[in-house]
Amino acid sequence: MTPDRLDQLLADPQIRRSAYINGEWISVDGAMLSIIDPASETMIGEIAAGSASDVDRAVAAARAAFPAFSALPVEQRAAFLDRIRTLILERAEIFAQAISREMGAAISYARSAQVPLAVEHVRVARDLLADYPFLTKKGTTAIVREPIGVCALITPWNWPLYQITAKVAPALAAGCTIVLKPSELSPLSALLFAEVLHDAGLPAGVFNLVNGTGPEVGEAMATHPGVDMISITGSNRAGVLVAQAAAPTVKRVTQELGGKSPNVLLPDADFARVVPLGVMTAFRNVGQSCSAPTRMLVPRAHLDEIERIAAATARAIVVGDPREEKTILGPLANRAQYERVQMMIEVGIGEGAKLLCGGQGRPAGLTRGFYARPTIFSEVTTSMRIAQEEIFGPVLCILPYDSVDEAVEIANDTLYGLGGHVQGADIEQARAVALRIRSGQVHLNHPAWDPQAPFGGYKRSGNGREYGEHGLGEFLETKAILGFG
Ligand code: NAD
Repeated sequence: MTPDRLDQLLADPQIRRSAYINGEWISVDGAMLSIIDPASETMIGEIAAGSASDVDRAVAAARAAFPAFSALPVEQRAAFLDRIRTLILERAEIFAQAISREMGAAISYARSAQVPLAVEHVRVARDLLADYPFLTKKGTTAIVREPIGVCALITPWNWPLYQITAKVAPALAAGCTIVLKPSELSPLSALLFAEVLHDAGLPAGVFNLVNGTGPEVGEAMATHPGVDMISITGSNRAGVLVAQAAAPTVKRVTQELGGKSPNVLLPDADFARVVPLGVMTAFRNVGQSCSAPTRMLVPRAHLDEIERIAAATARAIVVGDPREEKTILGPLANRAQYERVQMMIEVGIGEGAKLLCGGQGRPAGLTRGFYARPTIFSEVTTSMRIAQEEIFGPVLCILPYDSVDEAVEIANDTLYGLGGHVQGADIEQARAVALRIRSGQVHLNHPAWDPQAPFGGYKRSGNGREYGEHGLGEFLETKAILGFG
């Protein structure tokens, strides 16, 4: 593949060969789905949607490939992952460009986060294979961890490559075979990813890609009797539909869904440090991260100071053309997201929250594109919709509290439980608060990202864990052989 592959993809305005099944690109004849550049609101290409019959073919290919692939020595699976990692790194720039075009990530962010963090999932999966205990003993019983089988994987548009590698890499490491359906709104990086897997020499049928919509392709995957496990990252709405569709075939279902994560600033926190970090972490990827800490819980006695720092941080953010190096935040990824963010800002104003900065409409000087203004509301209360519903945009809520117990209560007072942050100088107190937060991850004092840390939700944020050893475990069945000796 050459570096101008993205131009080639886009020069072909109608991508009909959109499914990769049994080692070959297949023409599909479904409706053409538009690929919209969110910075210009113009169509940059179209991709043909697959159908339930394409899913049938992909599942058949994956089933046929499973016996041989699952029996490969782990060293060979590790070698495939190594080649995949190397190829993504070699093509990192084209992946960054594709992601920036399809969902609007600032190019600097696509290069520094969207692509390299995605590669980390591949590295971690490969490294785990060095000594993963696929067979352990308890007395004379052997406990064997075996690949679950054919895995259907459904991914969203916000971190398009990263969400794909977070599922595909551990599934391959486990010895599973795969049918992937990426978001229909961000198909370009997924096409490039399928090319990587082809060029890495994976046996035909081990990895299959079917582009298309959720209700058609996604649902066909969820109901398919030939699929052993389905894993979805997306909205709660889609996660529930997938679980319902999957239930009659009793397949394993894992769900990574929404969040409304708290960031508890304890009274002894260094506000000059943690408030700007908290704002920037909430607005990372234009706020389109499921674990974004969008509720900042602050001691009421320090509210004025925190409001000042937070607003100054937000006002300094450069929102603009994602292709420009200096841009920190590009547009929101699509029109639906833009309209939702505008609507929720209106809701916040209507609910009487104090608008510190930002508001409805585009930032000054931008007349086109799905750009939103970095917006901070203060004096937000838990009963407000903006404190409860995932907005998925650059909108931060500040909620004052009067005691640490009350802060914990507010932190846990949503239907979600995905991420969480605690900031404080007294690490013992910060740890104690972290232990009381009902969520799958809690970050203390803004540590570095850890691709080994299990990631997933309590409550309505989902079921199952991704990343690292726990992520690999989701793709395995457990077999006990008694009397093994
Ligand atoms: P979405 O639910 O609209 O789509 C996600 C995927 O599900 C897409 O591939 C879509 O085609 C598919 N889908 C939609 N309806 C389906 C159906 N009926 N059956 C099968 N598949 C279906 O979500 P989105 O707008 O692409 O992504 C944003 C959402 O994803 C947010 O709610 C966000 O919190 C969540 N998210 C969660 C995580 C996490 O790890 N917990 C990570 C990223 C995003």
